[in-house]
Amino acid sequence: MSTVPVMIGMPRPRAAADLRSGVLGVPGDPLVDTYGRVHRDLRISLTDRCSLRCTYCMPEQGNEWLARSSILTLDEIERVARIAAADGVTTFRLTGGEPLLRTDIVDVVRRLSAIAGPDGRPVELAMTTNGIRLPELLPGLVDAGLKRLNISLDTLRRDRFRDLTRRDRLDDVLAGVAAAAASGLRPLKLNAVAMRDVNDDELVELVQFALDHDAELRFIEQMPLDAGHTWDRSRMVTREEILDVLATRWSLTPVPGRGGAPAERWTLDGGSRTVGVIASVTAPFCGDCDRLRLTADGQLRNCLFSTTEYDLLPILRRESADEEIDGMLRACVHGKLPGHAINDPGFLQPARGMNAIGG
Ligand code: SF4
Repeated sequence: MSTVPVMIGMPRPRAAADLRSGVLGVPGDPLVDTYGRVHRDLRISLTDRCSLRCTYCMPEQGNEWLARSSILTLDEIERVARIAAADGVTTFRLTGGEPLLRTDIVDVVRRLSAIAGPDGRPVELAMTTNGIRLPELLPGLVDAGLKRLNISLDTLRRDRFRDLTRRDRLDDVLAGVAAAAASGLRPLKLNAVAMRDVNDDELVELVQFALDHDAELRFIEQMPLDAGHTWDRSRMVTREEILDVLATRWSLTPVPGRGGAPAERWTLDGGSRTVGVIASVTAPFCGDCDRLRLTADGQLRNCLFSTTEYDLLPILRRESADEEIDGMLRACVHGKLPGHAINDPGFLQPARGMNAIGG
């Protein structure tokens, strides 16, 4: 088996040649792409399964699940994570699907949180979840080393929640938020996709709910990542619209020092409480992107919107040297485009839905 990346989109033969010649760097070098962006954030999707069926993420029926035999084991995930950390990755974010559906989730957290970078400092372990299993699992996750939580919550109204997620589980999510608020994990973030005529009359309410739970609400512009390919730009509520609504309730002051973070943040009424907006469509932040993704079935992706994947699975499932995995990480980073091009007429939505990519 060769270490040449498996390409879904345009072939990039130079990356393969550079990989063999070592031009892309050697183990321990930072993961730098051709635009100078240093990659420090590895998003690890643990499963494509979910206990909800959000309309902007998955079709109601007919979703093609990843084959169980292709799902990375804990040992395989840990190996990739350890190599990435040696290359300067400082944050692992566990995603899905719903990461808490992994039966070995506490062990995943324990093993990954024990990984340290070359400077001996432990990597920071974060998770994005729908929150449903937090009441039962959070104590074990915190004990295992989880440091930060993002919980998805698009609406506070039960009928809307049921329509949006196709499941009547709002009370379970709210119990998860309460459990997170009662834990010591801070900053706690709640993520809401803003959607026209769905929840755009709840923006102030959602921020207030977050404040009441010592959390930061972060609104996300809806992106073309749904498995059903039904994204409609006119349904998207833009950053400007969100800010206009929030400004009717609070005075907003920009928080400086965003760095590579996806969210722009504002303080509320000049205090310490904040709100964030992730404006991936109308104000892309790709120029500072430091993110790399590992899907549950062992594909490396250099962008949410990438149509190219780098297949680690065969390397992980045969006798292979760590250098081969390191080389694939480098090839993936090297192949990264400057941005997502959502706003270009020729934009192509990736074949995978959000649940199989990882948020
Ligand atoms: S769209 Fe791609 S390049 Fe841009 S910020 Fe997101 S992951 Fe990074």
